[in-house]
Amino acid sequence: GRLGFVSTTAGRPEVLVMAKGRAAAAARSAWAEPGGLAALLARALPWTKGLKAEVVVSDWGADPWAGGAYTYPGVGTLWASPAWAEPLGGTVFFAGEATVGLSGPPMAHMAMASGERAATEVIGALER
Ligand SMILES: Cc1cc2nc3c(=O)[nH]c(=O)nc-3n(C[C@H](O)[C@H](O)[C@H](O)COP(=O)(O)OP(=O)(O)OC[C@H]3O[C@@H](n4cnc5c(N)ncnc54)[C@H](O)[C@@H]3O)c2cc1C
Repeated sequence: GRLGFVSTTAGRPEVLVMAKGRAAAAARSAWAEPGGLAALLARALPWTKGLKAEVVVSDWGADPWAGGAYTYPGVGTLWASPAWAEPLGGTVFFAGEATVGLSGPPMAHMAMASGERAATEVIGALER
């Protein structure tokens, strides 16, 4: 809840901070103060203290176009995901987390797997 997930790689100059929920609120208010984010970062990664850093922020919470939701089927909607995955007329193909259904969690890896499934369908259609 203080800053979120903080990651960095040896030899690289950047630090990635992924802040959700309470951590997002903390990061947002720290960002509003000059040097605030750098001070929070120095608590997580003490060797960054005093370093001059450029901060690039993507604030999904302030983006009216970012809905920020996961696709989970509601009660009585298990029909929807396979229906949305169904190609139209053998020429339009669908991928994405909403087409995953119960085959796995509707997250990045299953969204990518659905892309492979759709690509296989395209190949099948081209071979027909
Ligand atoms: C806050 C949050 C945190 C998450 N954290 C994780 C995580 O830690 N790990 C993980 O595995 N998954 C995570 N997810 C889920 C993951 O981001 C999604 O499952 C994944 O991005 C879905 O991929 P997708 O290709 O189906 O859809 P998207 O990534 O949403 O891609 C759909 C694209 O279509 C575009 N689009 C929409 N309408 C149109 C249109 N009419 N014309 C043209 N383009 C259009 C959109 O702009 C978007 O770029 C998270 C999701 C959220 C919201």
